Amino acid sequence: MLAGYTLRHPDTTFPVFAFRLHQFVSRGKTVYASLEKGDASYVTTSGQQYVPGDRDRVLMPLAFCRNCGQEYHTVTRVKDAESGDTLFQSREFTDTHPQGKAQVGFLYPDAPGVWPDDSRDRITDLPEDWVETKDGTLQVKRTHRDRLPELVHVDGTGKKVKDGVRFFYLRSPFTFCLHCGTTYSGRQKSDYGKLATLAAGGRSTATTVLSLATLDSLRR
Ligand SMILES: [Zn+2]
Repeated sequence: MLAGYTLRHPDTTFPVFAFRLHQFVSRGKTVYASLEKGDASYVTTSGQQYVPGDRDRVLMPLAFCRNCGQEYHTVTRVKDAESGDTLFQSREFTDTHPQGKAQVGFLYPDAPGVWPDDSRDRITDLPEDWVETKDGTLQVKRTHRDRLPELVHVDGTGKKVKDGVRFFYLRSPFTFCLHCGTTYSGRQKSDYGKLATLAAGGRSTATTVLSLATLDSLRR
């Protein structure tokens, strides 16, 4: 490639082959994880439906809070017409218009002491436009009650069960991070500016990576 670049076209005097370096620097891949917590969770960047050799453990894409880095499984929530079960299914972060009645949302892996089972115990930490003062006490607005983080127990396949791993389900648009408390106005419909995936990137990402690598090698 360098040889092609140093060789000049006799008529135009331009390099006969001008390559774009950024096209050789790839962005990251989506990270997938099974529905367990911490070290028990299987994490991979190779896109597949299940943990290899275990069809009882589904893999779901992860998105990360842009402020604190907390991970969220990106899911859709559906009700199975036959069994009546509530199912959480894998969803790519950018897929915000699922088929049928599926609801777009996120699963937050519960950690002890971070968020209470009943969100009203942390009412002052909820987004301002979710609460109002009625008869002298702070209350969650009626219109926002179905947006509160919902405690769910989930098995490895994503089915809501009685005894499973504890998660909080949040509906999209993402309105606040349960881990760091960053809140967003309900008017910000897109989740892109609030959560990031490792697969997000463009020309500027490549430039940033190359600039940092250059500075680092100059220093050495
Ligand atoms: Zn956060």
